[in-house]
Amino acid sequence: MGHQYLALKVLLLFWAGGLSLFAQTAESSENARSKLPNFVIILADDLGYADVGFQGCQDIPTPNLDTLAREGIRCTQGYVSHPFCSPTRAGLMTARYQQRFGHENNPKYDPNDPVAGLPVSQVTVADVLSRAGYVTGAVGKWHLGAAPHFHPLRRGFQEYFGLIGGGHDYFRVGPPGESREYFIPLQRNTEPEAFQGYLTDVLTAEGVAFIRRHHQVPFFLYLAYNAPHTPLQAPESWLQRVSHIEDPTRRSYAAMVAALDEGVGRVCAALKELGLEERTLVFFLSDNGGPVEVTHASNAPLRGAKGSVYEGGIRVPFIIRWTGTLPPRTTYEQPVISLDIPATIVAVADTAFPTESAVDGVNLLPYLQGQRHDPPHKSLFWRTGGGINWAVRSGDWKLVKVGQQAEELYNIGEDISETKNVSHQHPEIVLEIRRQYETWNQKNIAPIFEGPRRARPAGNKLQKDANRASAQP
Ligand code: CA
Repeated sequence: MGHQYLALKVLLLFWAGGLSLFAQTAESSENARSKLPNFVIILADDLGYADVGFQGCQDIPTPNLDTLAREGIRCTQGYVSHPFCSPTRAGLMTARYQQRFGHENNPKYDPNDPVAGLPVSQVTVADVLSRAGYVTGAVGKWHLGAAPHFHPLRRGFQEYFGLIGGGHDYFRVGPPGESREYFIPLQRNTEPEAFQGYLTDVLTAEGVAFIRRHHQVPFFLYLAYNAPHTPLQAPESWLQRVSHIEDPTRRSYAAMVAALDEGVGRVCAALKELGLEERTLVFFLSDNGGPVEVTHASNAPLRGAKGSVYEGGIRVPFIIRWTGTLPPRTTYEQPVISLDIPATIVAVADTAFPTESAVDGVNLLPYLQGQRHDPPHKSLFWRTGGGINWAVRSGDWKLVKVGQQAEELYNIGEDISETKNVSHQHPEIVLEIRRQYETWNQKNIAPIFEGPRRARPAGNKLQKDANRASAQP
């Protein structure tokens, strides 16, 4: 009897001790969790380098983006890891050069294609944040595969609303049974859904609603607008606000950019209203340069456009804002790349990608806070078409290889427009940077899926434009 009593007492003590320990652990982890900052990535689609006020644009009003830039750091040499949509997104999700895992083309929209998408072998920033206790949401354009295993909800996001393919009509979905990429229903999580109004406004409202739903817990919002990607469609009210632009193509494009700007303003206003500005790290960038011929975007003074490894294809408007932690009204002048965004996010969240050694992005925080003065990257690399085109940025030098043409060497510091090829004056630099490329390229694989074929003739001009811009550049 005595022994039994003692055993029960010991058991009770253990139980109570365990409970209190559990309570303490839960409390401290809850405290730690509540101190974690939120993350918002706002991605524009095909926005030109020179088409926002903070980049010097004169004809398109972007007051909200200009405010965001003023309140944060403008990266003057902000690059993306690819000159077109899907591969850039694959890099942005993984912090890895997407050629490492063969994601070098835009996936054709095909829910039955098990290969065309971000390989499931790859861990996303949303996976990492989910495991760290974050609420994660993706809103907008996905374009990382249409088969069920590529769905955002299978790639670390707990909530999703948006367009699974590479673009969409801005006003409507098609009739039941619709299979055309630009007219299929949107998806709320995995359920098809139509929408009312202008798609850019709808995505904004969904992004803001996500923030409101989760403002009390650490969250990660990936808000990927499809604007100002084709089709060039804007509401009359926005067209009127840019009626000073005479060229009708650029006027439509400008109206789309202005609506996007308004959306960014609403997201920022929600963060402010909820008192989250100092607890939220906000990134804004475009997924590639403007497709100048298609939408009359401007990448001035850069050479080239979407699809090109010249600066116009890969250098984009790029803002990082963390009120109270990062200095406002600042520029950061060293080259940075979209891959740095997920690397920075996981570092700030005090977690890591499971295979940290495979990560190509760099945590930018020590650089942005002035603790480090060396460049974040010795060199940056681009490759398209499985190696048909490539480029390397190394210090001020850039080596460019386009198809069968000889390599071109530019001094970007002196010649931002890549007009003076100085490869003959500096053969030793050409050789050195080519070797860097070859070393980098050894760790890449061949593309694992092809891009969609170029557009077939279509009756509807808007659809034709949409097809053209969604096809491989
Ligand atoms: Ca794009």
